[in-house]
Amino acid sequence: MSDLVQDKSASRASDCPACPGKPVLERIAARQAEIGKGFVVRRAVPNKARRMVGAWCFLDHAGPVDHGPGEGLRVGPHPHIGLQTFTWMIEGQALHRDSLGFEQMIRPGQVNLMTAGRGIAHSEESPADEAGRIHAAQLWIALPDSERHREPSFHHYPDLPVIKRGNFTITVLAGEALGKTAPAKIFSPLVGLDLTSAAAASTQLPLEPSFEHAIMCLRGKVVVEGETVEPGELLYLGMQRTTIDIHCNAETQVLLVGGEPFAEDILVWWNFVARTPEEIRTATENWNAGREFGEVPNTPLAPLKAPDLTGLSLKAKR
Ligand code: MN
Repeated sequence: MSDLVQDKSASRASDCPACPGKPVLERIAARQAEIGKGFVVRRAVPNKARRMVGAWCFLDHAGPVDHGPGEGLRVGPHPHIGLQTFTWMIEGQALHRDSLGFEQMIRPGQVNLMTAGRGIAHSEESPADEAGRIHAAQLWIALPDSERHREPSFHHYPDLPVIKRGNFTITVLAGEALGKTAPAKIFSPLVGLDLTSAAAASTQLPLEPSFEHAIMCLRGKVVVEGETVEPGELLYLGMQRTTIDIHCNAETQVLLVGGEPFAEDILVWWNFVARTPEEIRTATENWNAGREFGEVPNTPLAPLKAPDLTGLSLKAKR
């Protein structure tokens, strides 16, 4: 789901405000794009206001959208480097295939975690013959320099720790919270939680003060530290918070993401997280020439071609 919006400009983490080092409340509007047949993606990060929240460097909210047979998610083989793609399925299902040979259907309540490391290719598609609905979050996690050249890997996590608290069902997607640890293999201190409630709910959550945090609303309406947040908005919370108050008056679903402010300056372009334009140019040339990333077997979808590199050289000059 990562690259439905082919943003041709590079995003340099240091071009946006640094972590303020203290609690703040910043509302950030997600960019919205429609990807054919009413398939809406809201991209909250990267954004001019915030390029990252901890190591989380890409926050996409896809759908919910109903699709007919042969429609829905049809993302052909495409490459990644330097990141982990973290897919959280809310409704519907999608088939992941990758150049390591993994083929994995993901269903609601499950996580797919693909660690690109030095390079991997994958495709993502809705089941071909069925009508259905897609509602998902796809998040990217930047790998620290010491890990970003590692061998690629893929993991599917069908069971995640769940906690009931204040009428919320809290799923620990990544990192740890409330004494529970998610199984996802991550490489820097971070956290990801899903809070879902079918009715009015209220809780106070402990937070790690050395993390920066943000809230993304996926469904309904949520009130966080007195601020009302709806789908299409990110509420950035800064750091040095020990707790957060969350409540809703009706059905809602939200993501809380956080992490230690990422110390390295990253460059994001298309599906690549790197440090220099040269690395991105090399990865792009390798992909377009069919080198280094391997092939995704059995997919009926055509590989995606990288966008023109012109945007990279224009934007990445420093
Ligand atoms: Mn992808």
